[in-house]
Amino acid sequence: MKIRVSHLKDGLYTDHLLDSAAAFGFEKPEAFCDKVSVDCQIDKRASDFYIRFNVKTRALLTCDRCLEKFAFPIDDQGNALYTANEKLLKDDSEQIHLIQDGQPEIDLSADIRETVLLGLPIKNLCKDDCKGLCCCGQNLNFEACKCETETIDPRWAALSKLKKSE
Ligand SMILES: [Zn+2]
Ligand SMILES: [Zn+2]
Repeated sequence: MKIRVSHLKDGLYTDHLLDSAAAFGFEKPEAFCDKVSVDCQIDKRASDFYIRFNVKTRALLTCDRCLEKFAFPIDDQGNALYTANEKLLKDDSEQIHLIQDGQPEIDLSADIRETVLLGLPIKNLCKDDCKGLCCCGQNLNFEACKCETETIDPRWAALSKLKKSE
């Protein structure tokens, strides 16, 4: 997804991008249930474009415990400097990208993707207290299972205690 910058004089601007995850080049666009919405603020100074952005979408995740799919809202900020000044690249920052002087458009996709991926949880839980699946396959969030009330072998009881404190 590119923003047009050829017409911009030095100063502050805002822009908005709204398109499918596929248009932003996500490897698995089907893993998003909303379009990707990006508000950006562009600070143009000579051949430098300092861009701050806020990206919103919803990822479709699978709960690690109960295996149900759930929508995870993403609302994250990022920023990047796009510059034609190679000297600025010496700073080893990943947020600095080289562009051609007078380049008509800037492609924000890579920075947007990185920000979204960093915003995803390490552990996918449909809710903090998801009860998960019973050994019989019953989703315990919907219904308690009969298996739970059966007498448990003490050796397994110790194990299930461990599991519950996960
Ligand atoms: Zn769950
Ligand atoms: Zn069960």
